[in-house]
Amino acid sequence: MRPIRPGDRGPAVTEIRTVLTGLDLLPPSTADEFDLATERAVRAFQQSRGLSVDGRVGAETWRALDAARWRLGARTLYHAVPEPLAGEDVRSLQERLLEMGYDTGRADAIYGVRTSRAVAQFQREVGLKPDGSCGPYTMGALRRLGRKVVGGRPQWLRESDAIRQSGPALVGRTVVIDPGHGGTDPGVVVPDGPLRWTEADLVHDLASRLEGRLAAAGVRVQLTRGPTPETCLPDVDRVELANSLGADVFISLHTDGHANPAADGVATYHYGTDNGVTSATGERLAGLVQREIVARTGLRDCRTHAKAWDLLRLTRMPAVRVEVGYLTSPADRARLVDPRFRDRVVEAIVAAVQRMFFPVERDVPTGSIDVSELRAVVAAGAVVD
Ligand SMILES: [Zn+2]
Repeated sequence: MRPIRPGDRGPAVTEIRTVLTGLDLLPPSTADEFDLATERAVRAFQQSRGLSVDGRVGAETWRALDAARWRLGARTLYHAVPEPLAGEDVRSLQERLLEMGYDTGRADAIYGVRTSRAVAQFQREVGLKPDGSCGPYTMGALRRLGRKVVGGRPQWLRESDAIRQSGPALVGRTVVIDPGHGGTDPGVVVPDGPLRWTEADLVHDLASRLEGRLAAAGVRVQLTRGPTPETCLPDVDRVELANSLGADVFISLHTDGHANPAADGVATYHYGTDNGVTSATGERLAGLVQREIVARTGLRDCRTHAKAWDLLRLTRMPAVRVEVGYLTSPADRARLVDPRFRDRVVEAIVAAVQRMFFPVERDVPTGSIDVSELRAVVAAGAVVD
């Protein structure tokens, strides 16, 4: 869909304004124009949800606005098939249950089977009929008990536990590599210069190299797309693929672009919101990828950042998106055109994936893993340290 943007009018704009007003981001009015105040409110909303802040309402922002209408307790929640209920009220419920130690999986704002099961378990324990739906009685019980229970974010601790318990070996792991863009969407394009590659082609080359290195270390690898797909796969479909494969790690590869050719460097993104909710394992993976790439390539360190993009929010495994340099920077571009440089980037990511499966207390210094030795090390059953 074409994003709804400043200057637009009509019922869709009225609807957007109504939601923003309900969130206290916009004063009440009957105007139907996407004016400056609306744009500011959209930006504030995007910022608060960890979305890309562009002041327009595209598909992702639309879904987030639609979900934001619902306050916990305003409607009965249940596991609907095939179109599950989604919204901020579901997220609040999930966060409340997680804080109390019930396993709803990641607080993704979708009332799926796992949330329904967690509700049923809660109902059983407080003596309600365990039907897995959340109506007034269950809400009442949650309100009474919820306040007494405090704690960390059990969902992220559980994720870390799953990683820790599965041991340090790479053999048999499944890694989904997601070369960004493709098909009708070339990503960042540099019109001239020594590298005429598009972002889509470049990240596919990186993904194939990474596939080769990981496969050699005994990892099952799946790419989300081939080199020349007909259409561009939406992010939600890329997520669906990783989830359906039960992947252990998800790595999305991009290069950045900016109007200013002086902008350069590497940045890595993991799931998180401005309210401080973050994926501990995603954050750890992002930190490892970022540090290994900076140490092994010398690209400028543009650090790691939390974002609530669908790609990071809906994936059920540690997931990161790496922006490996700016194609619009002559300096970064000159390095990315060199296949030996791309191999160093790939080695850095392999090292990060390996370290991801080391227990934190047995982690090794950045830049110290010789990835060409991984297979031998793994075969010998030893941990590199
Ligand atoms: Zn991109």
